[in-house]
This record gives sequence, C-alpha cells and structure tokens, in this order.
Amino acid sequence: MRILVTGGAGFIGSHLIDRLMLEGHEVVCLDNFYTGHKRNVLKWLDHPYFELIRHDITEPIRLEVDQIYHLACPASPVHYQYNPVKTIKTNVIGTLNMLGLAKRVKARFLLASTSEVYGDPEIHPQPEEYRGNVNTIGIRSCYDEGKRVAETLAFDYHRQNNVDIRVARIFNTYGPRMQENDGRVVSNFIVQALQGIPLTVYGDGSQTRSFCYVSDLVDGLMRLMNGDHLGPVNLGNPGEYTILELAQVIQAMVNPEVQVRFKPLPQDDPKRRQPDITRAREWLGWEPTVPLKDGLERTIADFQSRLSSADATPTDRVNSY
Ligand code: NAD
Ligand code: UDP
Ligand code: UDP
Repeated sequence: MRILVTGGAGFIGSHLIDRLMLEGHEVVCLDNFYTGHKRNVLKWLDHPYFELIRHDITEPIRLEVDQIYHLACPASPVHYQYNPVKTIKTNVIGTLNMLGLAKRVKARFLLASTSEVYGDPEIHPQPEEYRGNVNTIGIRSCYDEGKRVAETLAFDYHRQNNVDIRVARIFNTYGPRMQENDGRVVSNFIVQALQGIPLTVYGDGSQTRSFCYVSDLVDGLMRLMNGDHLGPVNLGNPGEYTILELAQVIQAMVNPEVQVRFKPLPQDDPKRRQPDITRAREWLGWEPTVPLKDGLERTIADFQSRLSSADATPTDRVNSY
C-alpha cells in the first residue's frame, strides 16, 4: 500500500514509519520539521519506497495514497504553546486539508487524537464515553480544543462524505527519539538526571500520568487502522504513576545523587490521567506489553548515546528545529 504519514519526522511518526517500511509499504512522510527532524527518518532517505516531503499541512496538497496516518501537530505543551494560533491552524485547517485529501482519493484516514480531549477529568480512569472537562480559554486549549475539533471534523467527513475514518486517543507516550528539548516529563527527567542537574517536578508532584512505550503505541495505531472499528479508541498504558514517583524511578535508574527541585504547576495541568482500555482490548485485541522500567531503560540508553555522541553539539540540543 502507499501510506501517508503526516508528522512522520516526529517522535511517534518516525517509529510508525519504521514499522510500515519493514512491512514493505510505500511511505510518504510529510513534515514541516517544527518539532520533527530529518535524522529520525535518515535511514530511509535513500530507500526507493520512501519519500520525504517538506510541507506544512495548513496548506493544501495533492497526493495519491491508500491510507493516511495523520499525526502532524506538536505534542509537547512547551512547543504547542509557543505559537498557539499556529497549533489551532494545524489541528483545524491542517486536519481539514488531510480529510479533504482522504475524501478525494478515498483513502482510509486515522487521526492521532489525544487523552487531552478529556481535559482535567472528573472520571477516573477515562473511558471513551466520557465527554471531558476542558477549559475553552486556557493555555492548553489551543491543543485540547484543536484536537476536539479535529475529531469532530473526522466524524463529519465520515457522515457527510463517507470518508473511512479511525480515531485514536493517545495517552502519554515515551521512548527513544524524543527530542532533548522536547519539554515533556520523561525526556526532561532523563536529560536532567544524565546531566546531573535537579529534576524539575511541577507542583507537589502528586498529579498522575500513565506512560506507554512507543512500540506498544505504534502497534495499537496499526491495529486500529487495519481493523473495522472507527473509534474513538483509547491507546495508552493503564499503569498510573505520580510525577514524583516517576522522578524517583528515573533518579534511581540514572543517578541517585541528583536532586529534585519543585517548580510551580502550570495552569490547567490535569490532576489525574489513566486510560480505560477495555475498548482497545475488545476491538483490537491490544494491550501494552512493555513495563515502565524496561521502556525507561531503552529510552535512557538512547539519550545517553545521543548526549555523549560527538555530533550532539550544544546548538543541536537546545534548538533542534
Ligand atoms: P512530535 O512533536 O514529535 O511530532 C509531531 C510532528 O508533526 C513533528 O515532526 C512536527 O514537525 C510535525 N508538524 C507539526 N506541525 C506541522 C504542520 N503544520 N505541518 C506539517 N508537519 C507538522 O509529537 P509526537 O509525540 O510524535 O506526537 C505525534 C502525534 O500524536 C501528535 O498529533 C500528537 O498530538 C499525538 N499525541 C501524542 C502523544 C504523546 O504522548 N507523544 C499523546 C497524545 C497524542
Ligand atoms: N484538499 C487538499 N488536497 C486534496 C483535496 C483537498 O489539500 O487532495 C484540501 C482542499 O484544498 C480544502 C480542504 O482539503 O481546503 C477540504 O477539501 P474539501 O474537498 O472537503 O472541501 P472544499 O474544497 O470543497 O472546500
Ligand atoms: N512535568 C514536570 N516536570 C517537567 C515536565 C512536566 O513535573 O519537567 C509534569 C507536568 O506538569 C504534568 C506531567 O509532568 O503534570 C506530564 O507533563 P507532560 O508535559 O509530559 O505531558 P502532559 O501534561 O501533556 O500530560
């Protein structure tokens, strides 16, 4: 099949492309390199079945493909809040363009939505039926509401134009290839521990998250794409940890000497988050297989090799897009 991956040079997209290429598909990667990087897909650049296009999805584009994995959108609060209006354009105009493309070429379309559609949830763990508790005017809204509109667009294109859609609600995912300056909690703690600087815990660290290793997530995305259910389907690891617990695990694994420093909690930071994955189990026969410690070991090894490699210049680390 010919498969389009928007945001394919990013963290999850590049892992997905590895799997699709190994299965023998033809892959078109579309990315504007805002938070992604060519080095994430470097090994495929000379492959005859791989094509990399620098393109911003807020502009229309015509391509001929059979499936579209729509992942283009910065995922870290630091990056999606840097230019919030652009984040909304990417989620709304960008998703509209990709759905228009799917409609024209009759491609199956998978939206990478997010657990953020549940906002600061009042129900725990979160099932797909829960409609969420999202602030429309806060600093996370450009992303949360952007993704909610993206889901609405997907379902309206399905109802109105018969576009064959799939919607995945992805919970916090981590693994190798996260950027050193990504700003999300797992990469921040690992980089800080490796550099021997204090781990920055926001608030008192009692807020919780559930962390899914990237290979498990990619497996879930591919099962959803190639199965019969439209979704939305939660994809995440139900193992729930407080942020302070996560800091302590990483501290113990990387550098027991390193300190923890408490910093103010950002506005609207969700207090608890854990996926109810009953639907994913029943519909996709999917559940995560990689325990947190194993996934962290692989992620730490990846950061270790990147931070110590000769070509990881300071500029590379701080400003990689
Ligand atoms: P990422 O930031 O590493 O990747 C996003 C990619 O999209 C980058 O390569 C970036 O350059 C590209 N991009 C951004 N705006 C674009 C635009 N306008 N045009 C073209 N390309 C653009 O993030 P990720 O963690 O790989 O997340 C991928 C997708 O999964 C995102 O849609 C995100 O919302 C969703 N998601 C991720 C998580 C997670 O924990 N990683 C959780 C929930 C949802
Ligand atoms: N679009 C695109 N590539 C295509 C087909 C459509 O980028 O191959 C864009 C198109 O420019 C439009 C959007 O997708 O802005 C929605 O397309 P649709 O056909 O649904 O709406 P219309 O063009 O009729 O407004
Ligand atoms: N967080 C933290 N220190 C950091 C980065 C994040 O304590 O250096 C916290 C953040 O406040 C949130 C949790 O970790 O409660 C997860 O943050 P992340 O940005 O990874 O993802 P999200 O909030 O979107 O789930």
